[in-house]
Amino acid sequence: PGNKDAKSGRIVKALSGYYYVRPFDAPPGAADIQCRGRGIFKKRGESPLVGDVVEFEETENGEGAVNALMSRSTELIRPPVANVDLAVLVFSVTEPALNLQLLDKFLVHIEHAGIDAILCLSKQDLAENGEESAEAEQAMNEVVRIYEPIGYEVLVTSSKRGAGTSALKERLQGHLAVFAGQSGVGKSSLLNALVPGLTLETNEISNRLGRGKHTTRHVELIDIGGGFVADTPGFSQLDFAELGIEELGSCFKEMRALSSSCKFRGCTHIHEPECAVLAALANGEIAPSRHANYVLFMAEMKEKKRRY
Ligand code: GDP
Ligand code: ZN
Repeated sequence: PGNKDAKSGRIVKALSGYYYVRPFDAPPGAADIQCRGRGIFKKRGESPLVGDVVEFEETENGEGAVNALMSRSTELIRPPVANVDLAVLVFSVTEPALNLQLLDKFLVHIEHAGIDAILCLSKQDLAENGEESAEAEQAMNEVVRIYEPIGYEVLVTSSKRGAGTSALKERLQGHLAVFAGQSGVGKSSLLNALVPGLTLETNEISNRLGRGKHTTRHVELIDIGGGFVADTPGFSQLDFAELGIEELGSCFKEMRALSSSCKFRGCTHIHEPECAVLAALANGEIAPSRHANYVLFMAEMKEKKRRY
């Protein structure tokens, strides 16, 4: 700070001890500045993350040095990305079959991180054609019916047909987003459809066995033109390590809104009398699958706590 040669930019990639910084005033297509971090971060126990807004200085031979980190609005641990402000949870309508339990698990993590989420139902073409089309269409309608009333936006896409991809791109403008979802749901195909010229390797069935394509990749921000998307290997490995049991209810948006109306403070919404959540469940305002998954996650967390 205060240095007249200091510039600002964003770390778009971290690899082998280097941070690749894209200056805010960089013309399109310009190379990123390969920077070292100054020792000062290590002293303070800070470490720059992809997504960080930094102040840097150009040094000899076209390289640079990161001098200061700006404070972060959000911080994800896995994948390690700073300043993510939108999560796109990608679920395919089939292949693999839509799994509401996994969807709710992702939402818990995203709510806990304080990040807005939108749901993207991919492979919409398979709800119209193919052997599983009836089930796929049903799954698609169910997601819309359950999640839109809670306040989650649902976008339906087909990378194969180019359907819904421009609406998604529009929605991502001005954001630093992560795409999350199981392997094989079509995240790479979607990103390729959003960015002309991008050719991320897609997960064809033939190489889906074994460890797959994601194991050796690093986190990198993809410039989609007016926004960034973090290409995030391994975001499918979720556990509740950082979440306290008492925080779980607040990670279910519709329950959070009701919990102040429960009779007891600290109500778990499972067995208490005069519980506003149980009342809403009974009169159909809360989807049975949502409450069931809440109860299940709570049990999983208790079991984990008991074992360690
Ligand atoms: P990722 O693992 O989430 O990145 O998924 P990929 O983008 O690698 O896609 C997994 C598989 O689904 C590949 O075989 C793709 O060709 C296929 N796929 C992706 N998008 C679509 C789509 O919109 N429709 C159909 N029918 N298949 C798709
Ligand atoms: Zn309650």
